Amino acid sequence: MKKLRRLLARLRRHPQPSPQRDRIRKAINRVRRAQSPRPLVKPLAMFDAISVDQIPKDAQAVAGYTSGNWPTFPEVQRKFPRAHKLSIAISASHDADCLDIERGDASPSDAPGWVKRQMPRVKRPVVYASRSDMPAVLRSLASGGLGRSRVRVWSAHYTYKPHICGPHTCGASFQADATQWTDKARGRNLDESLCTPNFFS
Ligand SMILES: [Zn+2]
Repeated sequence: MKKLRRLLARLRRHPQPSPQRDRIRKAINRVRRAQSPRPLVKPLAMFDAISVDQIPKDAQAVAGYTSGNWPTFPEVQRKFPRAHKLSIAISASHDADCLDIERGDASPSDAPGWVKRQMPRVKRPVVYASRSDMPAVLRSLASGGLGRSRVRVWSAHYTYKPHICGPHTCGASFQADATQWTDKARGRNLDESLCTPNFFS
């Protein structure tokens, strides 16, 4: 700060345009740039779709199923070499980055065992569930000795407005790490999620 004040004082002594004034101005800008906080890292958009063709080519992050009726993950891996990728298991008997907990797939009671089994391979396994089912998933995890920090929480809440579920956004009782907020992204049959900037780190 002292340096900046000194430079500003020098600038006042050179009120007329001059090469010296330009040099002082440049020095002031350099100091200000160094002092200003780094810009906040932006949240990531993550896409998934039954048909991988619907996913934008420049997607930063893409999720895909490892099994079930639409095993998209191998195609996602092939077509999006540079994107962050998230594999989803639809059954607790399969291993992946994420467990899909919804009717017809895995259930909340499957979560603790599945998460513990993934832990050696996945840093913070992901649990996916609707906003209304997620509290049951988190209770099930807690009863299995798994606190909130051990998992990444990916909620589905189709408000058609990008957001990450939490007390301060949509009034959810939990704080999510990512939220699938639409199933009609870009007017397509395409799911889009908003993820915290560190979701993949
Ligand atoms: Zn929400």
